[in-house]
Amino acid sequence: MRLIILGAPGAGKGTQAVNLAKNYNVPHISTGDIFRSNIKEGTELGKKAKEYIDKGLLVPDDVTIGIVEDRLSQSDCSKGFILDGFPRTIEQAQKLDSMLENMEVKLDKVLNIHVPDSEIVKRMSGRRVCPACGMSFHTEYKPTQQENICDSCKANVIQREDDKEETVLQRLKTYHNQTVPLIEYYGQKGSLVTVEGKEKIEDTTRDVIKALGEV
Ligand code: AMP
Repeated sequence: MRLIILGAPGAGKGTQAVNLAKNYNVPHISTGDIFRSNIKEGTELGKKAKEYIDKGLLVPDDVTIGIVEDRLSQSDCSKGFILDGFPRTIEQAQKLDSMLENMEVKLDKVLNIHVPDSEIVKRMSGRRVCPACGMSFHTEYKPTQQENICDSCKANVIQREDDKEETVLQRLKTYHNQTVPLIEYYGQKGSLVTVEGKEKIEDTTRDVIKALGEV
């Protein structure tokens, strides 16, 4: 399976990507996760990415494209991949087209998870993540069993800097300006499927499986 997942920040791309990667036994590639682990390790890339991420802006295309090119050239991607959070601009999508052409492979599908903006803001301001194991929670929809303690590894959960309301609004603006055009880009290629992502995670998962099954 070679799949791209599109959607607003907080639409649930990561959650669905983890499920699908397990299901199809292919790597889950999240550019956001790659940036966050570089930030945590204090690398040069991490320092550069942080300047943009904390403001709700996109990391420049030349930086991001290079990272994905490296990752896709690794041997575990030969059997497929789930791309979560990439591409996010038309330029990234065009570069991805040429990468895939060089690899002599084709995308199976582009999955677009649609969630209204009002729901996104509600979701993201309540989102908490475990900095140790990456598990995510929500103060209202998926609370930790013990207050602010990760259910899985018992570390203290935190709110991502870029999940604070002001940054969320900027991230949404960035999404509408730079990423929404990709819906038409892939729609014209005939590879796009859209599912509603505003209900419960399990409902979206069911719809995703159904939509991909029809391919
Ligand atoms: P995410 O976890 O996918 O929401 O990504 C978090 C942040 O990382 C985004 O708000 C961007 O600042 C940056 N980022 C992730 N993927 C990309 C991308 N494909 N292009 C540019 N910036 C990205």
